[in-house]
Amino acid sequence: MAKNIQLDVYHGKEASVNAYMFSDDQSVILVDCLRNSEEAGHLADRIKSQKKPLTHILITHGHPDHFLGMNVLKQQFPETRIVVTKPEIKNDITGFAVWMEGVGWLEAEPAMKPKTAANEKGFDYEAHIEVLNAGTLALAEGAVLELNSDYAASECEHLTTIYSKDLNAFFPNDFCYYGVHPWLAVDKNNIDYWKTQLKEFKKQCEVQNPKIYPGHGQPGDVSVFDEVLNYIENFEATITASKTRAEAMDTMKRLYPNHQQADFLLFHSVNAFIPE
Ligand SMILES: [Zn+2]
Repeated sequence: MAKNIQLDVYHGKEASVNAYMFSDDQSVILVDCLRNSEEAGHLADRIKSQKKPLTHILITHGHPDHFLGMNVLKQQFPETRIVVTKPEIKNDITGFAVWMEGVGWLEAEPAMKPKTAANEKGFDYEAHIEVLNAGTLALAEGAVLELNSDYAASECEHLTTIYSKDLNAFFPNDFCYYGVHPWLAVDKNNIDYWKTQLKEFKKQCEVQNPKIYPGHGQPGDVSVFDEVLNYIENFEATITASKTRAEAMDTMKRLYPNHQQADFLLFHSVNAFIPE
């Protein structure tokens, strides 16, 4: 029999990124914590309204749209363990924070600047993030989230996916964007692996036919894997055929007029492949 587990989804505005709250009657687990402190504050309020202990915050990967809300969550839930599945993801998070500070991207989120001797008030990534070294997380009444981060580099260097048998739901995280332009400012090798893995997911999901919850955008069914695969193929064809960045932007916007985040995600993806 299925164990007690409920899912609440917080659809973030910035980057159209999602945060997922899993709960039973006695506990809550949060997955990812949004792109900015303001939205993370609303997320914290929603968790508090459940009036149950938040046992874990799992950060799926080292991209800022999934971890910049961490400081607010840490302040609101000081007892909660912030966890990642493996040391590489902790390194990705810390590395990205250092890089962001260097290019000025943390000026709007000063509390997320890394703690150093010169900046005592910064966020202590080293102390606050714990490596789980386990393949599962469980709610208090026993429902299990199966975690997998055994993937090669794709949208990011290391990424965690989640499967809940009780919900029959799969969370491919940033392998999937639904109705949102994916971040494709990555190496060609990453893109090749990404496409292969989408086909693999489709195969793996054939029998159970789980609901699919992407890292960005609305949930869907297993057709989302083909949808993302087609998008990536269209992107590659567009990059090859376009002489300028503007031309590539126009083509992609024409192909995907309703996709969100063109100004940031598509813009940087195009710029990574077409010189100015
Ligand atoms: Zn993301």
